[in-house]
Amino acid sequence: MLSTRICVACRLKKAQKDLIRLTCDFQSGEVRLNKGDRRLSGRSCYICRQKTCVDQALKGMRLKGALEGRKVKGRPAVRTVALPLPEQLIQLVYRECTDTGKTCQNTQSKE
Ligand SMILES: [Zn+2]
Repeated sequence: MLSTRICVACRLKKAQKDLIRLTCDFQSGEVRLNKGDRRLSGRSCYICRQKTCVDQALKGMRLKGALEGRKVKGRPAVRTVALPLPEQLIQLVYRECTDTGKTCQNTQSKE
């Protein structure tokens, strides 16, 4: 059975292999790009391999929410995610995108 996960940005369900996996180390709170490293333990979230989704996930608080999980009322937060993410990690995540548009000259930002 193919395992599916939901992208934190667009909320679409996709095959795990089509998603970028980020894991928040439960001890340090550091967020890492998880390429199947079983030594990483912590809460994971998934983002499509698309620049638009990565943008949305990193800019908003979705990533933080997804990695920290639901807060329990009356109890201090169990997990804290080290934010903002280091620039190096952000670059790595963008490198995982399959639509970075490096070869496309016609990409225009719709700001
Ligand atoms: Zn997405």
